[in-house]
Amino acid sequence: MPHMPVETQVENKYLEFKQSSIHNYGAFAVKPIRKGARIIEYVGRPLTKKKAQAALQDGNAYVFTINKHFDIDGEVPWNPARFINHGCEVNAESDVEDDRVWIIATRNIKKGEEILYNYNYDLEDAFDNPCYCESKNCMGYMVGEDYWPKLRKQIAKRDKKSK
Ligand SMILES: [Zn+2]
Repeated sequence: MPHMPVETQVENKYLEFKQSSIHNYGAFAVKPIRKGARIIEYVGRPLTKKKAQAALQDGNAYVFTINKHFDIDGEVPWNPARFINHGCEVNAESDVEDDRVWIIATRNIKKGEEILYNYNYDLEDAFDNPCYCESKNCMGYMVGEDYWPKLRKQIAKRDKKSK
């Protein structure tokens, strides 16, 4: 058994955490999950907007926007949800309800499937966040679906320049 981070051992009825071919560790269904189910809560330490900005600048990739007043830092040992990978073809989404973040199944998920949701990053710094999800429709970068048309244009422009 390789040495696993302590987060991966937090008990969750739907998930196990193990090495993923996409990136680092991933979350995999240990039993079928119904569409609409709350798979896991994304938890963390509350941060003021100011502290969240500083954390982001330090390269903390686990800051999650909660509301106008605060964010959470998910880089804590009690948050295995931070290992769930981004994907371009997803089976889950993040949803903020009453200032809590849930990862929710967007379709029925089979036992053994890796859980993926779109991190919804905006276009800024898109090219710094490559995606390795290996889906047929992978955009190549971790960007929210709303931005995909713009991202396609940016990629076309960049590729033209490099010729
Ligand atoms: Zn992708």
